[in-house]
Amino acid sequence: MWAELLPVGRGSASGGYRRYAWTAADGECRAWFEEQAKARALDYEVDRNGNQWAWLGDPAAGDAVVTGSHLDSVPDGGAFDGPLGVVSAFAALDELRGRGARFTRPLGIVNFGDEEGARFGLACVGSRLTAGTLTPDQAHRLTDGDGVTLPRAMEAAGYDPDALGPDPERLARIGAFVELHVEQGRALDLSGDRIGVASAIRPHGRWRFDFRGEANHAGTTRLADRRDPMLPYAETVLAARREAALAGAVATFGKIAVEPNGVNAVPSLVRGWLDSRAVDQESLDSVVGAVESAAREYAAAHGVDLDVVRESFTPVVEFDHVLRDELARILGTDTGLTVPVLGTGAGHDAGILSGSIPTAMLFVRNPTGVSHSPAEFAAEDDCVAGVRALADVLEGLACKEPARG
Ligand SMILES: [Zn+2]
Repeated sequence: MWAELLPVGRGSASGGYRRYAWTAADGECRAWFEEQAKARALDYEVDRNGNQWAWLGDPAAGDAVVTGSHLDSVPDGGAFDGPLGVVSAFAALDELRGRGARFTRPLGIVNFGDEEGARFGLACVGSRLTAGTLTPDQAHRLTDGDGVTLPRAMEAAGYDPDALGPDPERLARIGAFVELHVEQGRALDLSGDRIGVASAIRPHGRWRFDFRGEANHAGTTRLADRRDPMLPYAETVLAARREAALAGAVATFGKIAVEPNGVNAVPSLVRGWLDSRAVDQESLDSVVGAVESAAREYAAAHGVDLDVVRESFTPVVEFDHVLRDELARILGTDTGLTVPVLGTGAGHDAGILSGSIPTAMLFVRNPTGVSHSPAEFAAEDDCVAGVRALADVLEGLACKEPARG
């Protein structure tokens, strides 16, 4: 399965993947999913939002156990983010059939559409529409960099954009959703574990810092006469790093705009964007609060005005504790694995669905810790351990009794 997917949408120059929603590369991945479902005699369907499903047993019976992830990618993404969860889902089913497992609950495998949001700028479109947190109107207005709207893109790929909308009946049939994903950090590498269970998705947000001073000649303006916004900005970048380190959080100024942006001019405006994420709301508030008050002090010292605007915010997502503990119990008792419970700073479909149904995530070790880059990696042994862990979890949740002796 891995070898079949590997060449799809891969750039020859970067070695990274460009599998954007509703493009030809995405279509190839989706055709692959349909083939895998049919090769296993699963019931295949596409829901109103373009998400693909493969069923063993009748989902109408309810209380289904679903696993899966996404097949699309960020620009020049790695091979594992998304596809590892879908390939592992099919492989875990094969493993369970090999064990002679007897299913007592319907089992579903899903590929959520447009998870990364690389084309239309909004992540998790397929799961947000299904959960009803994105309205069809909002989805219809999404437009890519070439001016193509989401409805036109879906039509071109052979789907009906008028069907988009919430799918509460579908969600009501699902008793548990478990997403396996490559870890997007080094916690497992550092702890020496192959597999982890997610506890929560950390709260995160973006803040815009506008430092306004006075444009002037870089050669003739005495240092003492300047109101240079670059100086408090630079000090604020360092403060963000310091405050994040103190709080065990992360804070990044990764984007900046300067006016007039001339090499021989003292700037009039420096606009920097802060992205920060922390274990909980309290530490996030305290990091951003400390960065902001430091920035105000530095700005005042340089005669510069400062405005801070919060541009986006996503609160903490706590995964279902009962399901999380059940996963840790199944993996702990059945395999003797130590299963660390980890928080993550990245968003996922499982996080979106956690508001509607019990969800959980399994992480597979990524020794580079790198994600959203061709350098993202997981060793074959660890991927196999991930498949076994997922199979154990599905067996524990969806089968009458363990078939293994
Ligand atoms: Zn992902």
